[in-house]
Amino acid sequence: MNQCKTTVIHTNGSECGKRAVVVIGGGASGMFAAIACRRAAERKRKDCSIVLLERNPQPGSKIKISGGGKCNVTHHGTPAELLQFGFLRNKEQRFLRHAIYSFTNNNLVDLLARGGVLTYKRDDGKVFPVNGDSLSVVLLLEKLLLESAVHSFFSSRVLSVEPHKGQFVVTTDKSSFIADVVIVATGGVSYSRTGTSGDGLQIARALGHSIKNASPALAPVYTKKPFPLSGVSLSSIDFIALAGGRSVARRGDLLFTHRGFSGPVVLSLSRDIAELRAMYGNVSLFADLFPEQSVPELEGQLLVYARKNGTKMVRKSLQGATKEDEYGIVCNLPTSVIPYLMRQAGLDNDVTWSGLLKEKRQSLLLALKHFSLGNVLDVPLDQGEISAGGVLLDEVNPRTMESRLVPNLFFCGELLDYAGEIGGYNLQAAFSTGWIAGSNAL
Ligand SMILES: Cc1cc2nc3c(=O)[nH]c(=O)nc-3n(C[C@H](O)[C@H](O)[C@H](O)COP(=O)(O)OP(=O)(O)OC[C@H]3O[C@@H](n4cnc5c(N)ncnc54)[C@H](O)[C@@H]3O)c2cc1C
Repeated sequence: MNQCKTTVIHTNGSECGKRAVVVIGGGASGMFAAIACRRAAERKRKDCSIVLLERNPQPGSKIKISGGGKCNVTHHGTPAELLQFGFLRNKEQRFLRHAIYSFTNNNLVDLLARGGVLTYKRDDGKVFPVNGDSLSVVLLLEKLLLESAVHSFFSSRVLSVEPHKGQFVVTTDKSSFIADVVIVATGGVSYSRTGTSGDGLQIARALGHSIKNASPALAPVYTKKPFPLSGVSLSSIDFIALAGGRSVARRGDLLFTHRGFSGPVVLSLSRDIAELRAMYGNVSLFADLFPEQSVPELEGQLLVYARKNGTKMVRKSLQGATKEDEYGIVCNLPTSVIPYLMRQAGLDNDVTWSGLLKEKRQSLLLALKHFSLGNVLDVPLDQGEISAGGVLLDEVNPRTMESRLVPNLFFCGELLDYAGEIGGYNLQAAFSTGWIAGSNAL
């Protein structure tokens, strides 16, 4: 961050007895924190001034691009289900529990509906605005900021926050603000072009907080020798990463890309893959193409199949069929993948089931259950829908989002060391933690 001389000092009302609250970051969590803070002030009959500082010319840049512009605002289900399926690590679940239970997906849907943004639930549980337009969410939040008498300063990048005589001096590239309370809501570090380049982490570190280095999450995975199969997908496979004798796996759909892999199962496992890579260097990827069957079960099926289809070519049996074969093998492999499978199994292109000797049947079995997808080249941090890492959860009170180290300093949103799954969980976490921070700021 560039340091610069500041000339204007906004006292923000603190000189006339008002509590001065400064929110840093006009994303999902920051806007919610500011709105919740005003509502809490009204409930508690407290006078306060609320300032929101956003480095971009407009707020909500990530909301606008979320869900491909359609904005998957949250996920359907009980708070317990949101925690269970949205946040796979116990520590993060525990930390988010109070926030997700206190400001729920239903609270969010109600708030949006009262502002005229109706939502609907898709079959997969994802919740979107009916109008399919993320901008409508941002416009509503801007309206609520105005109604909440929040003074928003755009194109104002915060450079530092310094404690000063029981208050804080918040310095931007244009001026300074005196604050009694500071809420840091600067987001993660991926998609840095949206304004998230890690400033909040530097601010938190300078105030004495420990930071877990940012690492990729919900990101594509690049491999050393990508398959020339861009656009092809494998559905309901187990995607497996192996490194240093450890393995991690997840079930779902995989998409081949020009540089490696993407798709739901890849995005979901990318955080673990990046961690394995940081720990061990080389990470090998595999697919279990028949995850529902154990090796002996699949072997039994292949034997029965081979006996009844002796003259049929193995290649033909594996490709194209999308429903259960008459003899029990479910094959939904894309035709373009079959040559790679045959090569890995060491089979001739025209081999028939009767010509498949035991040894070759074993290698086919191995290829089906452990299809090699190559070695990881990179999991690009900036390409992730979110980043993992951030302000350590141990140092933040989960019931209030207040720092355990610095009184009147709050954190919320993706800046915190949690990472959710795809499906609306990350926006919900940003909204919920922002709401808790704002509600407890006074
Ligand atoms: C392409 C993409 C699609 C996504 N789709 C979805 C989805 O459909 N559903 C879902 O749940 N999640 C989605 N996410 C994730 C979700 O958008 C984020 O997790 C969420 O926006 C985080 O909210 P936040 O308030 O913590 O951070 P952000 O929304 O990133 O807001 C942080 C704000 O702080 C500002 N800021 C940073 N530094 C400073 C500074 N020094 N001074 C002043 N301001 C600063 C930034 O400009 C930014 O506006 C998506 C993310 C991406 C990148």
